[in-house]
Order: sequence, then C-alpha cells, then structure tokens
Amino acid sequence: MKDTYLGVHVSPLTYEGIVTEIKARMTRGDKSTIIAVNPEKVMAAQKNPEVKELINNSTFQIADGVGILLASKLKKGTIKSRVTGVDMMARLLKFAAEDHHPIYLYGAKKEVIERAAENIKRDNPGIVIAGTTDGYEQDENVLIERVNDSGAKIIFVALGSPKQELWIRRNINKLTNVLVFQGVGGSFDVFSGTVKRAPAFFRKTGTEWLYRLISNPKRFKRQLNLPRFLLKLLFNRRN
Ligand code: UDP
Repeated sequence: MKDTYLGVHVSPLTYEGIVTEIKARMTRGDKSTIIAVNPEKVMAAQKNPEVKELINNSTFQIADGVGILLASKLKKGTIKSRVTGVDMMARLLKFAAEDHHPIYLYGAKKEVIERAAENIKRDNPGIVIAGTTDGYEQDENVLIERVNDSGAKIIFVALGSPKQELWIRRNINKLTNVLVFQGVGGSFDVFSGTVKRAPAFFRKTGTEWLYRLISNPKRFKRQLNLPRFLLKLLFNRRN
C-alpha cells in the first residue's frame, strides 16, 4: 500500500525493498520507473494534472526529502525513512554491478557525465556502462537507437524535472531492451564531484534544505514549497 499526500502517491518501500521488487519485475520482463517525490513536486502536481499523473503512474515514488517524512509523521502515514534519488541510484549501481545489468547514463553536461562515469566505474567494480550521452543531445531518435543498440537494461536520466519524467514517458516503449528507468535530476553532478553533498550533520538531521539555502540563497523561492506543502496538508481536511 502507498501513502497519498494531496493526491500524490508515495511508496513506503526502503532501498532494499525496491531493489528486491525490481529484481522480480526484471525476471518477469516488466518495466519499472522510479520517480523522486518532494514537496516541490507535490505542489506542482496541485496545479498541473499532468505532473500528478506522471508521478502516480510511476512504479515507485520515492520519498526524497524531509518534507514527505514530516508529512507522514503529521498524517500518521507509513513512510518511516527517506529514500533519496542519489542514494537510490547508488544502490541500483551496486545491483547492476552484482547482477551484470549494463547501464546507460543520459543527461547533464558532457564533462560532468564523463567524470561521473569514471567515478561510477571506480566505485562499482565490474559494472558495465553500456553508453553515456550528455543532456544537450538534440536528436531523440538517434539517442533511442543508440540506447537500444547498447544493450543497457537500466537507464538513469538526469535532465531535471519534469523534463526527465516526460522524456521517460515518451520513450519507455521505444526503449525495447531497457527495464528500469530512474529520473535522477542533478545526481550526475553529485557523482562527478561537481556538486558536493551536504555534510553529514545536515544529512543526518534532515536539514539539507538549510545547507542548500546557505550555499545557494537563490533557492529560497523553491524552498517555500516545503512550508506551503505542510500548511496545505494540515488545513486540507480531505488529505
Ligand atoms: N540538464 C540537462 N539538459 C537540459 C536541462 C538540464 O542535461 O536540457 C541537466 C543539468 O545539466 C543538471 C540536471 O539536468 O545536471 C538538472 O539538475 P537539477 O538539480 O536542476 O534537477 P532537479 O533534481 O532539481 O530536478
């Protein structure tokens, strides 16, 4: 069973639970999509039914960010811990290396993706990176053919939201060999070392938003979605 916040589904599964389900789905030949849910996306879903539908139709909606965890506490939901997009990707990379599933990296700037691929290879011995394409490639059909020819089974798409989710929806059935699709936002920037993750203190206390705000005050407007989301959740009786 999934939790629902303001009409948006969130999966209560942990990293391990998701990998176990993905394994079973891959054996059956079923495709899986993973989307990160945070207050910003839930608020966007209120205004745009397409965003809501994109999230709710995904196989796994992960609770990325402390906002969803707080929502679960407030509404006595079943989400007990966060599942961040970047850690989910790290876990899937480990799975891909262990179970010999080739991966494809699509998105971010050329130098970012190159460095990310190097670091991923270093940290996941045996992993097969079937191909990489930067996020500024123009010809979608050429890319689809390249991914299909590469034999990749898992693709990570880093174009930002909702661009990456729309790309996945548009191409999921054209990518005949690929079984797992994760939209990973700025994760390649993290794997490449271009963007540093918040220090452990902020990660442990669930205050990464504070760290990001201090390091990039321009994010203030985006971050207003967190209190807005919690207020709406509290005062909207139907949710
Ligand atoms: N990006 C891209 N192509 C585009 C627009 C963005 O590859 O046309 C990449 C960009 O280089 C960055 C990522 O998408 O690596 C967006 O990261 P951001 O942190 O903005 O995503 P979020 O997680 O906030 O959705």
